[in-house]
Amino acid sequence: MRYVENPPNPFEKYSSEFLGEPSPAKLEVYEEKTTKKIITKAWSSDFGSRFTVNCYRGCMHACTYCFARRYHEFLGYGSGTDFETKIVVKVNAPEVLRAELKRTRQKMPHLDFSFATDPYLPLEASYELTRNCLKVCREMRIPTLIVTKSPLVTRDIDILKDLNVTVMFSIPFLTKEKSNPLELYTPNPDVRFRAMKTLSDEGIKVGIGVAPVILGYNESDIPKLLEKAKENGASKAFMSLVHFDSESILDYFTKRLQEKIPTKADKILNTMRRERGGKLLHKSYKERVSGTTEQWETAKKMFDIHFKRLGFDRSEKSETVERVPVQRSLF
Ligand code: SF4
Repeated sequence: MRYVENPPNPFEKYSSEFLGEPSPAKLEVYEEKTTKKIITKAWSSDFGSRFTVNCYRGCMHACTYCFARRYHEFLGYGSGTDFETKIVVKVNAPEVLRAELKRTRQKMPHLDFSFATDPYLPLEASYELTRNCLKVCREMRIPTLIVTKSPLVTRDIDILKDLNVTVMFSIPFLTKEKSNPLELYTPNPDVRFRAMKTLSDEGIKVGIGVAPVILGYNESDIPKLLEKAKENGASKAFMSLVHFDSESILDYFTKRLQEKIPTKADKILNTMRRERGGKLLHKSYKERVSGTTEQWETAKKMFDIHFKRLGFDRSEKSETVERVPVQRSLF
């Protein structure tokens, strides 16, 4: 049983606290029927423009490190259990996507499914919004990237086979023992690797995102993760450092870390502080996905050595590592 717990929303004037025991955090699904725009132009100073599609807001996978928690605050919700249990479903997403692409097809080089939620969160099994959006992309021949932690993506093999698509599985931890404390309701790493193989066996391009790297916790997993990804058909890989864009998200992560892995929490937080010059928040948007210390450089070198040794695709690596959206433009 989870109880409602949200850090104060920095965009709201008032916040509330439970005097007694908090209420249980139950799943609440809100259908948004009047979405007018589904493609978001995202931009970063380092990497230029991307176009993203997210059919849901919030994510039931509930990774404690998730940077998308902040987007729930933009809606007036909390970035804690609200993000995990109050899910907004854009039920007209496929129709809106079709209409937008009809207007913009000539200028739409690529669409990315992800970056504000997992496109295959459990509700997708019944709503099929990602599936129907992919059908639109297939029809209009739009090259596509999907980033997910869910084997539900294998349901859509029939569409993916006819699309110019790459499916990146986010797998930052090698074992379920390491994943479970931080990725509360995600499928275990082995399940993700199996889904990777299933897609690869069908001729669909797949890759691995070793993201986030939490120094002092999972950088030693990098070689084995890349090896397993290769064994399961991956040709692309990227990594990035854990980062927090606000005090509220950091607060939630820190509490969960201390609760789930109390013996390692201090060491991890101290290591994170070293990367950010003594603070836990990054100084600038540009610095958010990479560190500054020798420990980070060593992790990067280790990634590069095994990336080369295993023959991952160099051009695709740099392309994928660049996919960092501007956050406020999402809503
Ligand atoms: S699966 Fe992705 S979007 Fe969902 S909580 Fe985890 S990191 Fe965030």
